[in-house]
Amino acid sequence: MATADAMLKPDHAARRKHFIFTEEHEQLRESIRSFVTKELAPHAEEWEETTFPDSVFRRMGELGFLGLSYPEEYGGEGGDYYCNLVLAEEMTNCNSGGLAMGVAVHTDMASPPVFLFGSEEQKQQYLVPAIRGEKIACLGITEPDAGSDVAGIKTRAVRDGDEWIINGSKTYITNGHRADFIVLVTKTDPDAGYDGFTLFLVDMDSPGVIREKKLEKLGMHSSDTALLAFQDVRVPHEAMLGQEGKGFYHIMWELQGERLIGAAGCVAGAQKCFDRTLQYATERTAFGRQIGKFQAIRHKFADMATKIEAGRQMVYTTAWRFQNGEYPVREISMAKLYTARMACEVTDECLQIHGGAGYMKEYGIERAWRDMRLNRIGAGTDEVMLDVIGRSYGL
Ligand SMILES: Cc1cc2nc3c(=O)[nH]c(=O)nc-3n(C[C@H](O)[C@H](O)[C@H](O)COP(=O)(O)OP(=O)(O)OC[C@H]3O[C@@H](n4cnc5c(N)ncnc54)[C@H](O)[C@@H]3O)c2cc1C
Repeated sequence: MATADAMLKPDHAARRKHFIFTEEHEQLRESIRSFVTKELAPHAEEWEETTFPDSVFRRMGELGFLGLSYPEEYGGEGGDYYCNLVLAEEMTNCNSGGLAMGVAVHTDMASPPVFLFGSEEQKQQYLVPAIRGEKIACLGITEPDAGSDVAGIKTRAVRDGDEWIINGSKTYITNGHRADFIVLVTKTDPDAGYDGFTLFLVDMDSPGVIREKKLEKLGMHSSDTALLAFQDVRVPHEAMLGQEGKGFYHIMWELQGERLIGAAGCVAGAQKCFDRTLQYATERTAFGRQIGKFQAIRHKFADMATKIEAGRQMVYTTAWRFQNGEYPVREISMAKLYTARMACEVTDECLQIHGGAGYMKEYGIERAWRDMRLNRIGAGTDEVMLDVIGRSYGL
């Protein structure tokens, strides 16, 4: 309630609660934050070297964090889409982009298609144990010869009686080494254009599934990234996920949720980096002053804060539309594009403000800088987002 007194000075400490979040969301936020800071963050350094253990999924399953928006009948918490945003935001407090990504692939990329397109049996077999953290999921779209051009994938599934035989390869697959099952994008009719793709749920211990090498990468070191081969892998007809020939549309739907969750992670990650750097700028002195008091540095903070806030508003407004039944592909693409670029700019400026310390491992800023860079590539590159946005205007 506005009062005359309250109008005398700007209230910079005002609670920044957005209208999409209720008190229940804030309680959820508190409980996820408490878990993440107590049980995950202390291991961030160690897991950069070893990748994080599978037990993280079981623990998060026990706590109910892997099924926040799924119905209770499948072991979920029955929440709305905003609960997933809260999870993505709070996971950034684990100080490890790779861990946050490994969990997000499970919760917001691989399992949503099982829930939306899966048969009741598939939900029981895959979704229920995924929500409990007993089965780990991965998602296989990208191939050595086709990433942005999803329709260019070559992995083939050919019908043989009551079975399908799958041959092909997938690359850069997050959780690919640890996963129990994969949501696999295949081509079932090479002559049918966009109607020639079909999704399958494949057990990763099926004969013919080969987990080739673990891929070395710039950042996200605590996650595992796999090159996978599928050699005459036989799956029953019931392993088909969704409709035959509609896999391309199914996976495009999946990508929208993935991009929005990624955008929420970018905003929260940028904010975290900003907060740490603000603290540093009040502690570090040069020429007898706190570095934050130099106008050049103060303006960097002002710029960063403005961009972070713009990204946050974009994500929340778009999430509101998504939650309310719209399919706002253009705005999701804009949010993904903007927040990925913004988060890379912010982490770069934060590194700069740290000076030499920013380049040193001990401050964690260099890791954030490396991890953040993936967001301009994964789940659709900047260039692909620009193309989706441009085409949405009929161009
Ligand atoms: C760490 C990591 C984890 C990943 N996890 C997964 C995962 O779990 N599952 C999965 O399926 N994939 C995953 N990916 C793959 C990721 O989604 C792809 O790397 C991404 O979609 C880009 O595909 P690409 O690497 O083949 O690049 P390419 O498609 O070869 O693109 C190369 C360059 O060309 C540009 N380009 C391509 N097409 C166009 C165009 N039409 N117009 C303008 N420019 C264009 C691109 O923007 C890019 O700059 C992961 C990638 C990484 C790095």
